[in-house]
Amino acid sequence: MIEPSSPGTGPAIAQSSPLPAADVVVELSGVSKVFGLSGGRAAGGTVEALTGIDLAIHRGEFISLIGPSGCGKSTLLRLVGDLTSTTSGTVAVNGKSAERARLDRDYGMVFQAPVLFDWRSVQKNVELPLEIIGRSKAEREAKAREMLDLVELSDFTDHQPWQLSGGMQQRVAIARALAVDPAILLMDEPFGALDEMTRERMNLELLQIWDRTGTTVIFVTHSIPEAVFLSTRVVVMSARPGRITKVVPIDLPRERSVDTRELERYFELVTEVREGLRAGEGGAGLAPAARVRAEGLSA
Ligand code: ADP
Ligand code: MG
Repeated sequence: MIEPSSPGTGPAIAQSSPLPAADVVVELSGVSKVFGLSGGRAAGGTVEALTGIDLAIHRGEFISLIGPSGCGKSTLLRLVGDLTSTTSGTVAVNGKSAERARLDRDYGMVFQAPVLFDWRSVQKNVELPLEIIGRSKAEREAKAREMLDLVELSDFTDHQPWQLSGGMQQRVAIARALAVDPAILLMDEPFGALDEMTRERMNLELLQIWDRTGTTVIFVTHSIPEAVFLSTRVVVMSARPGRITKVVPIDLPRERSVDTRELERYFELVTEVREGLRAGEGGAGLAPAARVRAEGLSA
């Protein structure tokens, strides 16, 4: 079961009252991203991956990005993590540039494939980022043990990654991402390669970690149930070019458990997200001129 968070550590999921601006950890304003531009001029084969992205994420939120394949979810995450730069618009993280935030180690990142180093033990994999930033041996060992305890892998510290199941490997990757106490955890379909049962278990574990660390999570998925189950808000995106079509506040009780998936409200929210995705699909299927007209009508 997930412990309710102690008062004052991050916002509850109440979306009705606007959160104070000071609590904004990530702010995207008018962001667009076009791939394949060279020398500032559009060359052949450009891809408009994202357009008109405005999104403010508050401290302690759990945000899921959902949308069809190729709609720019990974690109959006990479923009926040400063793994790629915007074509226009701004990304502010903790009130500074994404680059500054990356240099300050404000992020932890977890991808679909765990990317562990097979020649290092589980413990040594988690110590790696601490080694890079020059922490002492004693500090690294203690922190790595603490993180492996958090993901319930204390008994596997001396194993090699290839000796672990896919779910366990992903937990090592999460422990490693958390080792530097990141303010923001960026996760790109981290459970996409896992079977359904493992995935549901990992969802619960992730919520416990989120609760204990108070980190802000931005999570990419294409699973509607996963997005609704995990999040405080679900950001629905449409394809070509990727834009935010809907933001669904998830007003389920913060404490989530296997029973959450049986709640009537849970099903309503799943339906709401699904309908949001469908509406986005419709828009993306239209020719650009028709889309402009359709949006003009709906605005
Ligand atoms: P998603 O994660 O939602 O599946 P991506 O963000 O990976 O989508 O990609 C969005 C669009 O941008 C896609 O059309 C993809 O082909 C394109 N794209 C992504 N990265 C690059 C890149 N480095 N160079 C060129 N095009 C890219
Ligand atoms: Mg992706």
